Amino acid sequence: MTTESKETGMLLPVPDDDGAPFWSYAAEGELRVQACAGCGVRRFPPRPCCPHCRSFECEWQRMSGRGRIWSYVVAHPPLLPGYAEAAPYNVLVVELADDPSIRLVGNLVAAPDAPLGSVAADKLRIGAPVRAVFRQVGEGEQRTTVPRWVLERP
Ligand code: ZN
Repeated sequence: MTTESKETGMLLPVPDDDGAPFWSYAAEGELRVQACAGCGVRRFPPRPCCPHCRSFECEWQRMSGRGRIWSYVVAHPPLLPGYAEAAPYNVLVVELADDPSIRLVGNLVAAPDAPLGSVAADKLRIGAPVRAVFRQVGEGEQRTTVPRWVLERP
């Protein structure tokens, strides 16, 4: 598919021990966020210790996948070669509806498998409601599933 070839050369997630559950749940189509099992405060990105109560116990809470655009940029060259071919494309910071203190970085696309840049820059608005969708990227051992975002009201 042309969308695949346009996106080769892009960097893929490299999960560490703390973040591995996030990617495992994403592969099942679930957006989950780490929360402290002691005081219940959610945190992102994943890390071993709660900054509020210093507990090392955690759980992974399923989020609704709904959020709002908190900020965004539209990337233009100069970029790394794999990204320059896909430009211009957006990069969002999304605050989750379930917990606005949790913000994730991702791309707004027209559909789960649509290419980067499939949503025109003039559709981007701070505060616009979005929801998470999931897409497999990479090949073989590097194959992983990443959350992306689509507009609730395209
Ligand atoms: Zn805690």
